[in-house]
Amino acid sequence: MFAKQELDEILSSYKDFKIATICSHSALQIFNGAREQGVKTIGICTERSRELYESFPYAKPDEFIMVDDYTGIPVDELVEKESILIPHGSLVEYVGDKIDDLAIPIFGNRGSLVYEKSRNKMFEWMHRSGLRTPRVLKPDEIDGPSIVKFPGAKGGKGYIVVHTPEEYYSLVGEDAKTMVQEFIVGVRAYVHYFHSFSTPAGYKTSYGKVEMLGIDRRMESNADEIARQLSVGAKIPISFTVMGNQPLVLRESLLPQYMDMGRGVCNSSKELFGGIHGPFCIETIVTEELEVYAFEISARIVAGTNLLESPYSRYSHGPNYTTGMRIAQELKNAAKAGKLGDIVY
Ligand code: AMP
Repeated sequence: MFAKQELDEILSSYKDFKIATICSHSALQIFNGAREQGVKTIGICTERSRELYESFPYAKPDEFIMVDDYTGIPVDELVEKESILIPHGSLVEYVGDKIDDLAIPIFGNRGSLVYEKSRNKMFEWMHRSGLRTPRVLKPDEIDGPSIVKFPGAKGGKGYIVVHTPEEYYSLVGEDAKTMVQEFIVGVRAYVHYFHSFSTPAGYKTSYGKVEMLGIDRRMESNADEIARQLSVGAKIPISFTVMGNQPLVLRESLLPQYMDMGRGVCNSSKELFGGIHGPFCIETIVTEELEVYAFEISARIVAGTNLLESPYSRYSHGPNYTTGMRIAQELKNAAKAGKLGDIVY
């Protein structure tokens, strides 16, 4: 892992800062939000993506750094241009383990990635945060609908549902390194939070405050279109590949529980790896008994925030406020207070 001390030296050489990210995932929102807050942006872009990122005048970066592919981040050039890198799902996916060693300031805390990368550690983190989770089952313990997650699978791709140990072994085999979870039946809610060192909104944590900025529900194929398949008599196995996102609001009686969950994640993050900063998401399922199960934490901006304004961002920061704007605002506040080093690693 790149040493924090060396990173602080890089930061201390910055007179100003620019926001940089890979042109993918939620980059349009990140660039648009920075523009709204008067922060200059850099898009790390391939020739293939450039036309798209030039075609939205209010969400295109101020400058492009062209790369052959996204596995190599042009770190020296970005540092020379005083950039802070904003992580999103595509950055985590393309750069993978090498993210730990990138010699560039990254918004948030790269220490969280150790917990995000390993499903077992993720469950440890969720339990430490006080979250209720689905049971994690050994293949022989499967006693009802169970979801099988394969290593490295992204966005739900390739997951299957089994019901018995026999079905598991016949479909997966003996040796696969899967995680099997009890399949929770209920309504999915992907809740977007933001941890800030200075905000009037949200609940107090041990090192700042945590705000709720929005909620989405992912549209996953073909799980979310099963009724259409049934209506035409098609027998297609269930799958969970993410196609997009829809906005959601929670019944108000659930809000205190979700605010406490956000706080729990922030406080445990502080104990485990020095804290989470900026946007993160808890992925949950609410059962008909109104019990909330969490099955994942994403310690960065999630694509569901691309729905832009939600009632919760409005109640926290006024109209037309987005997570992209929130990121730029937080970095500006930190730069002004001389605290960039506290929220960037
Ligand atoms: P994940 O890769 O963990 O984000 O899961 C991808 C999708 O699989 C989720 O968005 C849910 O629709 C579904 N899913 C994951 N875990 C569970 C679970 N324990 N019970 C029911 N559905 C799940």
